[in-house]
Amino acid sequence: MLFNNPPLSAPVSQERNQQVVAYRGRFAPSPTGPLHFGSLITAVASFCEAKSQGGEWIVRIEDTDIPRIYPGSEEHILKCLDAFEFESDAPIIFQKDRLDIYQAVLEHLHTQGLVYACQCTRKMLGSNHIYQGTCRDLNLPFQDQAIRLKIDDQPICFNDLLQGQHCSNLKQDLGDFVLKRRDGIINYQLAVVVDDYLQGVTHVVRGADLLDNTERQIWLGQCLGYPKLSYMHLPLAMNDRGDKLSKQNHAMALDIAHAPKLLAQALQALGQPPVDLDRPSIMLQQAVQQWQRDLIPKGTSIQGIFQ
Ligand code: GLU
Repeated sequence: MLFNNPPLSAPVSQERNQQVVAYRGRFAPSPTGPLHFGSLITAVASFCEAKSQGGEWIVRIEDTDIPRIYPGSEEHILKCLDAFEFESDAPIIFQKDRLDIYQAVLEHLHTQGLVYACQCTRKMLGSNHIYQGTCRDLNLPFQDQAIRLKIDDQPICFNDLLQGQHCSNLKQDLGDFVLKRRDGIINYQLAVVVDDYLQGVTHVVRGADLLDNTERQIWLGQCLGYPKLSYMHLPLAMNDRGDKLSKQNHAMALDIAHAPKLLAQALQALGQPPVDLDRPSIMLQQAVQQWQRDLIPKGTSIQGIFQ
């Protein structure tokens, strides 16, 4: 074990100024492209899960990876949230405004001896991309280097509400992983864990494409002494070629002119009973009342002709 008693309060704990509630869910899109039907499924499911349990639901824009930001997509996300009448229970935060917070957490991890600078290039990692810890004991200066988190050689498991038990031994599957890139970009794993904690998130509902990231996030949360979260990974909507809908696959942007129809289709894809076509907020209300997690299709993909 790298530590026996994880530090119970991270340096930025004073910023966790949200009142702690029993259920706070979130929708956390990255503006790497416009929202598509798969994003709508995540937004609807995370919203209905939270609201059907009397919880709160918040929106966060995950935009730390500046080079991957797609021009105009941030505006499109906000327009969609408006058109689909999703209301965040807290002001929307943008991760690019919070870089000093992530940096403070990195420094805290450094004082705990849990991170180190690494100068290895991707090429040096070899074909399986499992990092062997080459720089772990070199004590390299942090300036202009990637920062990696040390991991233990032990399985990490969690019980996903839809996908069941999921485990990974990070040492064997991945190696010490990057929290900050050499170019200074804060990695998604760090920003997501810190913000879920600081925003008082208790339940994570997101696409099954992120299932394999979860053990990394659990490990980092454990290193920081953060409370455990509940996870639910939704099956992914596929297009007619059998590829998951994604920004990379050029999935069609959500057309806000057809919000009610798209909302009804998203609920159908999630196996939920039909809702009457109406204005989106009314439809969402009905969806929340009727919401049944057990009806969500099993597995990691939803077959259908989604674009
Ligand atoms: N920002 C991520 C994405 O758009 C989602 C992160 C998460 O839900 O944990 O794919």
